[in-house]
Amino acid sequence: MALVAKVLLPLPLPEAFDYLAPETAELCVGDHVVAPLGPRRVRGVVVELREAVGINRPLRQLEGRVDDPALPRATVAFVEWAARYACEAPGEALALALRGLRAAPPKPERLVAATGTTPARMTPARARVLEAAAGGPMRAAALAQAAGVSAGVVKGLLDEGVLAWVEQPVETGFDPPDPALPGAALNPSQKAAAGVLADMILAGGFQAALLDGVTGSGKTEVYLEAAAAALAADAEAQVLILLPEIALTQQVIARVEARFGAAPAEWHSGVSPPRRRRVWEAVAKGSCRIVVGARSALFLPFRKLRLIVVDEEHDGSFKQEDGFIYHARDLAVARAKLEGAAVVLASATPSLESVWNAETGRYRWLRLSARHGEARLPDIRLVDLRENPPERGRWLSPTLARAMAETYAAGEQSLLFLNRRGYAPLVLCQACGERMTAPDTQSWLVEHRYTNRLVCHLTGWSMPKPERCPHCSAKDSLVSIGPGVERLEEEARHLLPEARIAVFSSDTVQDAEGARELVRRMAEGEIDVMVATQAAAKGHNFPRLTLVGVVDADLGLRGGDLRAAERTYQLLAQATGRAGRADRPGRALIQTYAPEHPVLQALKDQDRDAFLAAEAEQREAAGLPPYGRLAALIVSGPDADVLEAYCRALAAAVPNADGVEVYGPADAPLALVRGRRRKRFLVRADRNVDLQAFLTTWRARARPPGSVRLTIDVDPYSFL
Ligand SMILES: [Zn+2]
Repeated sequence: MALVAKVLLPLPLPEAFDYLAPETAELCVGDHVVAPLGPRRVRGVVVELREAVGINRPLRQLEGRVDDPALPRATVAFVEWAARYACEAPGEALALALRGLRAAPPKPERLVAATGTTPARMTPARARVLEAAAGGPMRAAALAQAAGVSAGVVKGLLDEGVLAWVEQPVETGFDPPDPALPGAALNPSQKAAAGVLADMILAGGFQAALLDGVTGSGKTEVYLEAAAAALAADAEAQVLILLPEIALTQQVIARVEARFGAAPAEWHSGVSPPRRRRVWEAVAKGSCRIVVGARSALFLPFRKLRLIVVDEEHDGSFKQEDGFIYHARDLAVARAKLEGAAVVLASATPSLESVWNAETGRYRWLRLSARHGEARLPDIRLVDLRENPPERGRWLSPTLARAMAETYAAGEQSLLFLNRRGYAPLVLCQACGERMTAPDTQSWLVEHRYTNRLVCHLTGWSMPKPERCPHCSAKDSLVSIGPGVERLEEEARHLLPEARIAVFSSDTVQDAEGARELVRRMAEGEIDVMVATQAAAKGHNFPRLTLVGVVDADLGLRGGDLRAAERTYQLLAQATGRAGRADRPGRALIQTYAPEHPVLQALKDQDRDAFLAAEAEQREAAGLPPYGRLAALIVSGPDADVLEAYCRALAAAVPNADGVEVYGPADAPLALVRGRRRKRFLVRADRNVDLQAFLTTWRARARPPGSVRLTIDVDPYSFL
């Protein structure tokens, strides 16, 4: 009986296509095949096989199988699930899963082996060759050398069929990890958490846990013990550790190697294509058992994935914003479900979503207590900029400037921290401190460069920039707040002309190498003042750092971004956590125009639970995640009229659905990007609504014209 193979191609096509399977090849789901597509031949993956009954149209035949390791069924299922979740073409998700195969496979080595045939004419030279060949396949030249004969003797035996060429695949394995090596000494809190995780893993099946503990509480040791439990329980088990940034991978790789006596595979954009192919193949064959990587490692073809760790789970870098849009933390949970694996989310400042999942019992909640006798918590003070304003055109208050001078004089280090996410600053009145907010959402309005308007990033509501403050009527009092880090560096140089000052941002640090070097210089005291964006706010230990200055705590609070308050809290908690060590008390000065804001009050009191409770209450009242669901539709195109017309068509095609609200179209906050105008719709839905079904139905009812691009962002993080 002929078979029909449904083949998914790694292309932006709406679905997988049916082909006739070749009679000769034994196909399985997950196999790589070559399929005709119009005049082209394209590589794809078999996602389904069935008998060719009831086929009433001619099907084209597959051209053959490609000899790469097959995608495991669970990986195929994950690819299809991820595409459905993201409202993307399934081929786009497949392309991610096949990324490791872009480089050519290493060529197998050609070796010579004895066939067992006796030569017609035996000579002493030939006898020596056969003796040497008895040890197993060898390279021809090595065999001739071992036997002390010329290449001609070996060739003669090859021609006669006494020897034959064999192909030896290049070894793609990795050294096996040894979970029996002794782990780190755990304190009682760590031991308890590691025990719960080990029990979860031994019980088998999908389970999720939130590993929640302040910086220095030893989360890494705990999740490495969970990895040890998984590896020890099953000789084929595989473990994936996801990290938000390449800069953190070396550190974790070293810890894994120390714990298990073997280096894990590394997976991120900095890994060379041939190396990636090696990792991809070894993961698919099961010979690589631990992978440490960035978010795209989630699409690797694991054979027997038993544990996924998402370290720094709150980090926004897990959200992939271009191309195939996904959040690696959320997809990690989904993949663990499909694999029947355990997933551990670790953070010092967990996301509201994860805390909510833990509170409602979906995740086990493992809280680690802080270590004893270590760093004292820094002294945190809010600097009210209304009472203690910087000089005109400057950003450092006299209080912070004085503290920096004292710190420098004492031979200690300062970190100036500025969360410069997004491009547009907050607008406020210098006379009365009034922040410009949107009437319907209370989101801060941000100034737009292209349109000279103040725009709410959440709903798109906008107004021309007024000449007078709407609150106190002062004229020309509205200013945009928020310098860039380079501008701050200038001010620090002016303040401390002798000090060594460095900027840590994505402009000055472009890769893991650069980040490591800057961190090393800071750690070894070669820098007096570091001016940093969020890049420096995590994972590093600077023993001589005693002052953290948060230059503009307000910038993140209501930037029109749903998670702005949460992100600000996380970044500030981590940045202030940097200051001070056992023998040097640290302090943190937080500049703000809104010291009464609950986020800043919670931070000053170092009361995370109070912050989360306040934030959760606001989100629940507004039906926002995790209490509701959000999606953004970004529509872009080069021609304003065509774009307007399509947006009207899209607005008219909104499906009727209970529990769903659609806002827009509005100018997207970044209204013009690379010559393309952008409009945005925002969808809010109740939790019980099938948001993906709503979105795909909507999109199907108004297909964009050729020049217009429609992008769906489920659970948006960036509101730009
Ligand atoms: Zn005012």
